[in-house]
Amino acid sequence: MTTSADLRIHNLVRLLRAVHDADEPLTRAGVARLLGIGRNTAAALVGELEAAALLHEVPAGATGRGRPTTSLLPHPDGPVAIAADLREDTWTLARIEVGGRLTELASGEHDRTPAVFAEIRAATRRHAGDRLAALGVAVAGPVRHGRRLHISHLDWDDVDLAEHVGDEWPTTVDNDARLAGLAEARRGALRGAGTALHFHIDFDIGGTLLLGGDAQRGAGNIAGEFGHMPLTGSPLWCRCGVQGCWSLQVGTNALLRHVGQEAGHGRGREAGREILARAEAGDARAGRAVDDNAAALGHGLGALANALDPEVITLSGLGVELLRLRRDLIERSCAEKLMRFRRAEPPSILAGTVGEASPLRGAAELAFDTILTPAWLQARLPARPPAGASARASMTARRP
Ligand SMILES: [Zn+2]
Repeated sequence: MTTSADLRIHNLVRLLRAVHDADEPLTRAGVARLLGIGRNTAAALVGELEAAALLHEVPAGATGRGRPTTSLLPHPDGPVAIAADLREDTWTLARIEVGGRLTELASGEHDRTPAVFAEIRAATRRHAGDRLAALGVAVAGPVRHGRRLHISHLDWDDVDLAEHVGDEWPTTVDNDARLAGLAEARRGALRGAGTALHFHIDFDIGGTLLLGGDAQRGAGNIAGEFGHMPLTGSPLWCRCGVQGCWSLQVGTNALLRHVGQEAGHGRGREAGREILARAEAGDARAGRAVDDNAAALGHGLGALANALDPEVITLSGLGVELLRLRRDLIERSCAEKLMRFRRAEPPSILAGTVGEASPLRGAAELAFDTILTPAWLQARLPARPPAGASARASMTARRP
């Protein structure tokens, strides 16, 4: 049974969520329209959120017509999430407020062992303050059942997160490519997209299918390993144990391999960027390495588009650079692998707009998902006397 108290909490969560998701600060009148509630109800809900130090209401600038309204900002004492991006050789930590403002806090190199989680926890503790509500971590590999890590670049096979992630804060850990896609769906180029694919390219390529903004997880939270499909027929064996993975031809490792440099083990990101720069400056060998990467990327995208029919495909990480340098080749290669009847309406291939920090942003979104809930809000709000009870009765009530 839904009570009026349930409805109130439900609307408080919707309101806070709307403020968090908005590109620009919402006004109180705007949020009332967005949520389909009356102005008086909106004023009461905002008042409650302000009293609980969740929102801060300030007079809005003149809007020309209508009654003056207020802008809804994150409260200076409100909850924050900390997000960590754990890459093969480095980590970055950032604080994100309600509304999405991101402040980078710390970064470092690591020794390529799971001891890095203790480093991240220590850094989080240093920066936590009393506003930290949840922690989100992006990792460059599959996170089976949300708990068991398999990162072949690091030779981590079945690392149990329970042994490495403490319980000081609610913590979620997920795959970086999926989180980059989630960030694009919430705050970037995939806003409002129905069926979309996102690919994050770093040492190799990972991705996610997004349906109505939801990044698909599969049965064991390990969907989206598109890089480990034999889409382009490489004769090489992949570190994942399969021959011919798409990842062997797309990403930094493939660039390095193409110019005869050692690839694998998550080393050489800078060397990969140098190959792109040399290609841009006209170096023929580097140019062929980039061509090969771009063609393999396009071929794989075409094959996946045949299967999944996305309206739009976005790229992050190295993919943004590949698109800048070789858009024509990527689109042509994609079209070559599209079934003929699809070629008149190929999916758009776009650079993501969230930027370099997209896995970090996605990790923060996941952290906020764990706290912007009725249960969390209920615990956060000051206790209210039940309707009809006298103030005296509520004062004598004791918490268990
Ligand atoms: Zn593989």
